[in-house]
Amino acid sequence: MEQKRINILGLETSCDETAAAVVADGREVRSSVVASQTKLHEKYGGVVPEIASRAHLEKIYPVITEAMERAGVGRDQIDAIAVANQPGLTIALVVGVTAAKTLSFMWGKPLIAVNHLHAHLQSALLSEEQLELPAVALIVSGGHTCLYEADSPLELRLLGSTIDDAAGEAFDKVATILKLPYPGGPNIEKIARKGKAQAVDFPRSLLGRDSLDFSFSGLKTAVLYHCRGQDMQGQDRVDSMSEQEIADIAASFQAAVIDVLIKKTKRAAEKIGAKTVLLGGGVAANSTLREAMQQTCERSKPPWRLLVAPKAYCTDNAVMVASLAYHKHQAGLFAPLTLEPSANG
Ligand code: AMP
Ligand code: MG
Repeated sequence: MEQKRINILGLETSCDETAAAVVADGREVRSSVVASQTKLHEKYGGVVPEIASRAHLEKIYPVITEAMERAGVGRDQIDAIAVANQPGLTIALVVGVTAAKTLSFMWGKPLIAVNHLHAHLQSALLSEEQLELPAVALIVSGGHTCLYEADSPLELRLLGSTIDDAAGEAFDKVATILKLPYPGGPNIEKIARKGKAQAVDFPRSLLGRDSLDFSFSGLKTAVLYHCRGQDMQGQDRVDSMSEQEIADIAASFQAAVIDVLIKKTKRAAEKIGAKTVLLGGGVAANSTLREAMQQTCERSKPPWRLLVAPKAYCTDNAVMVASLAYHKHQAGLFAPLTLEPSANG
């Protein structure tokens, strides 16, 4: 007899994407809908929490409806409602959490709470049958930069994280300095293709020989000084720079970030004797990072297997939420209707 499939409706509202998805058995994507708010935040050069929250309120119902329609399922075919309840902007998370609790109560379906960062890691495991352990996972996003030891999708141990800016945040801030459009990551990557990565020797902060933490604020400041002079008294030179000079700065900055991300991941993988390296989060969409990580893993002795999130599921989405929730469903890990959002994870 064919085994019943578990369909989970996942919701994600942690920052500036309102997303819903239906995923069967944790890996078959039946629908994925993402309403991005990039246009709303563009003119502020970053996410404005109040605007994000209001936009989530407007979009959450239509996004859920579309995800259900595209998946071709009704409420009777949904086995659980999953939601990312941490970490993120509390007033944004609360919209997804409230919607999920309401549906759970009205449809009589169990509620599953998912950590947004752990869900990013799940994006790298979507097509994976067998995870060779131990694994090191690097999650690089707009709000977080974390290294984990992964014993299973549900068992993660934090090895290190950023002590100041997240990698994606550094990309976004440097893009603002270089007067490139928001969001910075994809635009820096685009212009960096025309630049020379060795043009400017920006600092790489490694925080000591054994540290698995990250720091990107010094690098960001170095880019600022490079553009405005050491004492910040100089003219902002960006307007008078040639496109080539801006491309060189972008390429040199990107190389510095990637260098640090690779060195720390290598350090962590060596420390725990990793067999597999996982890479996820918005910055993992960066092709230069993906290629550099691939080379590092291939050259290691013995080589590490690299699993990278598909580009479509690097930035925030609800597929990763519904997929991770499947493992919680199988383990009987359900959340009460008193579930609250939490800024920290
Ligand atoms: P997330 O927080 O996971 O939704 O990811 C958003 C972050 O990823 C933002 O800070 C983006 O600037 C960054 N990002 C997206 N695409 C790229 C890219 N191609 N290169 C570098 N950073 C990127
Ligand atoms: Mg994210």
